[in-house]
Amino acid sequence: VTQEPRLKICQVALDTPVRRLFDYLSPSGPGPQVAAQPGMRVRVPFGRQQLVGVVVHLRDHSEIAPDKLRPILTVLDEQPLFSEADLSLLLWAANYYHHPIGQVFAAALPRLLREGDDGLRPTTVWCLTAAGHAALNDAALNRAPKQRLLLQTLAQNTETPSAALNESLTEWRNAARALVEKCWIESHQRNSNADAANAAMTLRETEPVPSSAQAAAIQRLLAAPHGGFLLDGVTGSGKTEVYLRVIAAVLARGDSVLVLCPEIGLTPQLLHRFEQRFNAPIAALHSGLTDSERARAWVTAARGQARIVIGTRSAVFTPLPRLGLIVIDEEHDSSYKQQEGGFRYSARDLALLRGAQEKVPVVLGSATPSLESLQNVAMQRLTHISLPERAGTAQPPRLVLVDMRAHAVHKGIAMPLLQAMQRHLEAGAQVLLYLNRRGYAPSLVCQGCNWSAPCRSCDARLTVHQRADRLACHHCGAEEPRPTRCPRCGYEVHALGHGTERVEETLAERFPQYAIERFDRDTLRQQQELEAAIDRVNSGAARILIGTQMLTKGHHFPDVSLVGILNADQSLFSTDFRAAERLAQTIVQVAGRAGRAERAGEVMIQSQYPEHPLLTQLLQEGYAGFAASCLTERAAAHWPPFSRLAVLRASAATAAAVMRFLQAAAALPNSDTHVVMRHPMPSTMHRRADRYHAQMVVESLDRMRLQKFLDLWVPQVEALPGTQGLRWALDVDPLEVF
Ligand SMILES: [Zn+2]
Ligand SMILES: [Zn+2]
Repeated sequence: VTQEPRLKICQVALDTPVRRLFDYLSPSGPGPQVAAQPGMRVRVPFGRQQLVGVVVHLRDHSEIAPDKLRPILTVLDEQPLFSEADLSLLLWAANYYHHPIGQVFAAALPRLLREGDDGLRPTTVWCLTAAGHAALNDAALNRAPKQRLLLQTLAQNTETPSAALNESLTEWRNAARALVEKCWIESHQRNSNADAANAAMTLRETEPVPSSAQAAAIQRLLAAPHGGFLLDGVTGSGKTEVYLRVIAAVLARGDSVLVLCPEIGLTPQLLHRFEQRFNAPIAALHSGLTDSERARAWVTAARGQARIVIGTRSAVFTPLPRLGLIVIDEEHDSSYKQQEGGFRYSARDLALLRGAQEKVPVVLGSATPSLESLQNVAMQRLTHISLPERAGTAQPPRLVLVDMRAHAVHKGIAMPLLQAMQRHLEAGAQVLLYLNRRGYAPSLVCQGCNWSAPCRSCDARLTVHQRADRLACHHCGAEEPRPTRCPRCGYEVHALGHGTERVEETLAERFPQYAIERFDRDTLRQQQELEAAIDRVNSGAARILIGTQMLTKGHHFPDVSLVGILNADQSLFSTDFRAAERLAQTIVQVAGRAGRAERAGEVMIQSQYPEHPLLTQLLQEGYAGFAASCLTERAAAHWPPFSRLAVLRASAATAAAVMRFLQAAAALPNSDTHVVMRHPMPSTMHRRADRYHAQMVVESLDRMRLQKFLDLWVPQVEALPGTQGLRWALDVDPLEVF
């Protein structure tokens, strides 16, 4: 029986700012064309261009006149890349974050796939031959520095893709040719690891015996068919071991696992730990990948060839057939929220939704859970599982406040901390100092007239970088030479305040016999440099660690027995409603680096305000007590999670243009008295990178009411007469409101 061919309309998501799907005719005519199905990519005509989009729905009618409908040019996939569940997650995200659907799909797809590539091009990889290894110190290379650099770079890994060399070296191909002639290096093509899907799932390393708390947590998670869980475990309590055990059970029954990590937490060490444990194909998705590596990892996952996907924020959209578990490590981390560009989503919130839609358990892990998650526990939306003890024999660290007003302070470090450093270093331990301020000093000032070096493009001061002998803006990236005299009065200028570079200098003078390792974006620009620094710490070669946020997460330094927090005061008086929560999380996370092995740790927190209730409460009652009272304050003030916010952020070339736009948006009608539109306000840093930034907050106690309001409001905002150069973005559930 032949079936009558019916008119088939494909509704396609295209990467345009238009907030709808586009109708196309299913491909017809002769040829071996596959029928387009939802979840497949297609190439379509769009005006005079051709675009790649994703089929979202099939329909048998269209509102567009049949003679205006254009056919799909090519169906790019033989099998859908996105399942029905994946599609519905993306549609939900577009709706909830009020962002054009095609751009949401674009955010979910790696760039090569967005451009129509199949993501499986073989990559060329390079490696040293045995002769090459032997030649690493060959004197003949003294006159060929490019060849030597290439040889040294390749020596760091067993295989290095061409794309990685393009990023780290310039003009390396001539050097490569010369080295190939000497038979010191060779290249070959590496295909996708399609056959890895058949690898056995057996455990590689022997599992450590779980503590009783770990065993109880594992048992509860394994017994749960679905639902959200908050795994609340102090640093060192062994959350990762719980994840690994539960993941093993999920893999054993043939399902796959999605693991999300904060940007800074997805370290080679963590990947290594997974590789050591599971003989299963793993796809890693993080910012360090080249476009082709990313596309390959993504396709491997989407085709069910990877059983574990470990990735940062955008990995939440990775299709995974037979998804059986989602793990979100360090769920409180702000990198789960996309805070730039147009599509501002929370990967943590979307992961919870994805778990609910696909009926699989979602495990949120943290030593310092977000107030949102704690409130979800209180509302019984999440099940609380605690790991109260540190694994093994490790003792919790002792926290003390150091009153900066009561002690002599030597270049930003108070005497009690310097003395404690001496003591711990002499005992053979390592010391970690945390300061969230890179550079030498946060400003360059004139003592004659109080001038301080400003950024020409921002409402900000320039940071002094001593070694580079430059001034740099940490907001727009502008750099300029460092003047020796005040441009206004001619008096001498000097660096004021302390950044990590200056603290390193101070420590080198004070403790010349101990090697120092500095962790910040100025010293460790590449992953390899970070790994080398971590190796120097773990081998014991480095004794003093000074660093920014980079030091606070993901890394385990078992021999660190003293942690100093140099400036806890930066966020004590912030206007941001989340500042207290973040400060407490940072202090507890940094403190967690101390005393993880057999020695008990000591943590010293320097402050000008040691009597501040936030600090005293955190020290006396710990994070849980602090979080409980912080939640009470938020409830009283109607801040999230007790209210729902959306922020309309805008920027323009002039202050007047940006305020005019926001005032027009604020004047649009609002018939719901339960939704409040706040007055537009300039941002805390009004001028940034030569643009003026401002925002307005919309809030409601009721999420649905806020959503209904946004449904009506956003299209009207979009229709407002645009001023030239105006940019805006909507931020639903923002992390910050200024
Ligand atoms: Zn001056
Ligand atoms: Zn600037």
